[in-house]
Amino acid sequence: MNKRILLIEDEPGLVLTLTDRLSSEGYSVDTAHDGDVGLERASNENFDLIILDVMLPSRNGFDICRDLRQRRTSTPIIMLTARGQIVDKVVGLKLGADDYLTKPFEMLELLARVEALLRRAPVSPVPQLDNDIYQFGPVRIDFRRAEVHRSGEVIELSALEFRLLRYFIEHRGETLSRDELLNEVWGYNALVSTRTVDVHVAWLRQKLEEHPRHPQYILTVHGLGYKFVG
Ligand code: CA
Repeated sequence: MNKRILLIEDEPGLVLTLTDRLSSEGYSVDTAHDGDVGLERASNENFDLIILDVMLPSRNGFDICRDLRQRRTSTPIIMLTARGQIVDKVVGLKLGADDYLTKPFEMLELLARVEALLRRAPVSPVPQLDNDIYQFGPVRIDFRRAEVHRSGEVIELSALEFRLLRYFIEHRGETLSRDELLNEVWGYNALVSTRTVDVHVAWLRQKLEEHPRHPQYILTVHGLGYKFVG
């Protein structure tokens, strides 16, 4: 069955170009031209991926992304940000987006990101772990349900953060380089910088560590990368 993509974008030209190209790649593309409609469709229908513009009429992409994650929608999200707005990228990822592209972007780059995210979704159980529950400190992870709790409270992780955490757990005690994490978790290291790893590690710490600046579980190994001890 064709993968379904929801494109939430208000520029008619871009909508047309993207719809044409994605359709010709075999995706089934639905579009929403403003934020309210986009949020409603993304919440109520099943899509395999969402491409989400930031600047939209009626409701911006950041709000949509945050609302979707709060509603436990784990569909991968690629955000389209305006040129050079680094802050947008950071905010987008923090709110639960899985990836971002800066306009104007190359169509091939978008297609590569789409493919990479679709390959990984949905988050699957971890066969390498003996059972579906893993616990460290106050954090409890249910791999089968893709749920994370900390001190009994639900912690919202993006699909990417969840995969990163899972990889850490599967390789606990090992020093993992940024390149390895990019290869294994992102899967397309040619297109993102190792800085992306640092950003996501920082957010995992924010969500899971009691003192994110002095992490207990996701440690920095200076000059080498990261190590999970939990
Ligand atoms: Ca726009």
